[in-house]
Amino acid sequence: MSLVRVALPLPLPRLFDYEALDACEGDVGRCVRVPFGNTEKTGLIVDCLSEPPPIQEGEKTPFEYKPVLSIDRSKPPLPADWLALVGFAARYYHAPLGQMVAVALPSVWREGEATALLPSNPWLALSPEGEEAIGDLRKKALRALLETLRETGPQRLEHLRASFPQALLREAQTTGWLKPLENAPERSSLSALAPEPVAEQIAVLAQLRAHLGKFRSFLLHGITGSGKTEVYLRCAQTVLAQGRQVLFLVPEIGLTPQFEARVRARFPDNHVVCLHSKIAPKRRVQGFFEAMSGHAELILGTRLSIFTPLKAPGLIVVDEEHDPSYRQHEGIRYSARDLAVWRARQWQIPIVLGSATPSLESWNHAHKGHYHLLQMHRRAHAKAVLPRIHLIDLTQQKVPEGLSPSLLRALEHRLLRGEQSLLFLNRRGYAPVLSCPSCGWASPCPHCSAHQVLHRADGRLRCHHCGTQAPIPRVCPSCGNSDILPWGQGTQRVEETLARHFPQARILRLDRDSAHTQGQWARFLDMIAQGQADMVVGTQMLAKGHDFPKVTLVGVLDADSALFSSDFRAPERLFSQLMQVGGRAGRAEHPGEVLIQTRHPAHPLFACLQKHDYAGFAALTLKEREMALFPPFSFQALLCVQAPAIETAMAFLEKAMACLPHAQVTALRVYDPVPMRMMRLAGRERAQLLIESDTRAALHRFLLEWLPGVYAVRRDTGVSWHLDVDPLDL
Ligand SMILES: [Zn+2]
Ligand SMILES: [Zn+2]
Repeated sequence: MSLVRVALPLPLPRLFDYEALDACEGDVGRCVRVPFGNTEKTGLIVDCLSEPPPIQEGEKTPFEYKPVLSIDRSKPPLPADWLALVGFAARYYHAPLGQMVAVALPSVWREGEATALLPSNPWLALSPEGEEAIGDLRKKALRALLETLRETGPQRLEHLRASFPQALLREAQTTGWLKPLENAPERSSLSALAPEPVAEQIAVLAQLRAHLGKFRSFLLHGITGSGKTEVYLRCAQTVLAQGRQVLFLVPEIGLTPQFEARVRARFPDNHVVCLHSKIAPKRRVQGFFEAMSGHAELILGTRLSIFTPLKAPGLIVVDEEHDPSYRQHEGIRYSARDLAVWRARQWQIPIVLGSATPSLESWNHAHKGHYHLLQMHRRAHAKAVLPRIHLIDLTQQKVPEGLSPSLLRALEHRLLRGEQSLLFLNRRGYAPVLSCPSCGWASPCPHCSAHQVLHRADGRLRCHHCGTQAPIPRVCPSCGNSDILPWGQGTQRVEETLARHFPQARILRLDRDSAHTQGQWARFLDMIAQGQADMVVGTQMLAKGHDFPKVTLVGVLDADSALFSSDFRAPERLFSQLMQVGGRAGRAEHPGEVLIQTRHPAHPLFACLQKHDYAGFAALTLKEREMALFPPFSFQALLCVQAPAIETAMAFLEKAMACLPHAQVTALRVYDPVPMRMMRLAGRERAQLLIESDTRAALHRFLLEWLPGVYAVRRDTGVSWHLDVDPLDL
């Protein structure tokens, strides 16, 4: 009797056994269709048993196993190292394996019809039959194609497409005169237009190259403009020349179209696949397959690409490793950066975590010697200097419309000199609140504990958390007062204010309302680069990895909200954002200036920022965290519950508290259940329970003992819960 053990995408921490007479060891890692209750489901075979597991106490014998419906053998089975990764992720994040598989595996791979996948861009070589046929060929075009291949050796299909029609290429393949190669031919990667590396880059590269083929975590701390990308690309070039693959993680591909283009241009001979959530499911599955079969040498992707199987991995790069978008915030929570380090160890290859402002977790690892710290302190462009950073003390200046007189003067100077300015404000819309001065009504969202934001351009009030919208009321809905006013500044309002002050200026607004497609975004970036805008107002989208060589002034309008936030990570995020935004200024020959409006100019964060002193800021903040026993000096897990009413959510957590394993509780701190900071979201009310431990091991031992009890807690209708291990937001 043959049984397969199947991981099904269900919120249950267990696997399911089915009978499969023809199954063998080789089916482990394949998708399988099975009956489940009254329906069918697709799962992944994670084990194959030749006999049924021993009968458990209290079970009836013999157990009737249902037979599988079909095993999808059209695709290759997922490799053992991939199953090990998903297994580790499921254990570490305490998630059901089947749900982890559902996150890691593209949906088309699981649910799509059983079709074989073929590489989209194979190497084609002239076959012996083709060689023989050349002499007798009448058709000139076909002969030219075969002769080209005879001269140049194997070529990429995509390359050939540039010179030969599709039909001809197909004909040459169906006749068997051109054959796809299983493995890429050995040749060094072409590297066009590479700038000469500077001394710091050369030193860093030497370190990295010395560790190829071995596991080592490097933290590359390089200031903006120091040329980290060039280091990645040169190191990748060495790895590719050894016939190995490179996995390249970036925070958001959509915002950095130039980056993908740069990688493709740099390695014209290599097949690059791009994996992120915005690409079509079929293309994602194709990229997944090409990485797994070795046809793609460079895999460029966002957090989900950490689950890409690679045939011959050689290097992992995580760019902007501090970026919160490496963390999955919905469904099964995981950190792609942390999994990347695990993966590098599993594969015994080096990993480079790069950033101008590393996460304090990584910085702490580097200082404890777990990561090897590499530093680049100089801008690669010899003439480029770091921007000067000045604070505008808002307690000394009136700012009726969010823009201080000093900032307005600086903007005017730039306009007169024909230089670009950039204004950074992390609030889109016209005003964050529409308020009634007589009764205190403040455009509340009916479904969230948040205000609806005023969008004057299209006449709507909009909740940025749940998307609910409504027309702008003419009078206060609560007291009927007709004098309701926008309160505070959003990007639209700043744009309007600027237009009034500088009627002659060309002003561009960049946020998710003005640029919601990748194409629009790329066009805006282009316009800025071409000098078609004098002033740009935008949200943090602006800060992500773009060069604006003509920008000489950056104004920061709302730095203060993060300084005294109840979220202990807020200052870290603010510092890194301000460093990034500042890094946009003065990247070419023009020296840049950053002006920050604040009511707290004496805050130590600003002192570090003005000196461009990340290390100083990190030391200061780590000291505070150590005293407060916050991560990275403690390890946390958060049990979050959502319910129609807060009482129900709290009641669930009380019940979960009741099944805490008593023996363990002394080793850690279990806090009382509390409503979440933003209690109501999209009509659901939320509460949380925080568990904190001095060691990672104790935390995981505790969770392992506790969670079966939590699963067993009887849930009232509408209650759902999830566990967040190493949460980023509390
Ligand atoms: Zn009112
Ligand atoms: Zn809402």
